[in-house]
Amino acid sequence: MQLRQRLQEERERLRQELAQVRSATQKDGAGGEIGGKSSKSDEAAVATELEKNLALEKSLLQRLVEIDHALEKFIRGNYGLCDACGHPIEEARLEFLPQANLCIGCKSRQEKDGRGRWLRK
Ligand SMILES: [Zn+2]
Repeated sequence: MQLRQRLQEERERLRQELAQVRSATQKDGAGGEIGGKSSKSDEAAVATELEKNLALEKSLLQRLVEIDHALEKFIRGNYGLCDACGHPIEEARLEFLPQANLCIGCKSRQEKDGRGRWLRK
């Protein structure tokens, strides 16, 4: 099981993807070059594209935070333990999602309770 390496590779990949999304967002955001020629539908298309990129950026960032957190746990020596209850996270779950920070029980409780409240840094 080389989960740490998988996490590091995934983090690298996400960082590159994030950099691409960010440069695309900045290009669209400036918008000056289209100038007076842009029709309303062009503007709408650009806005939609921008929104899509921002949403993508947000989800990439969220995943990066989770992966960083999991890598931190490797350093602290408590990787594989649930953040909420401290019990070991199911191995199959880690295999499927190496950045998992909660066991299945706590995760489903968290989802029922509303999001994010347990995940304090
Ligand atoms: Zn738990």
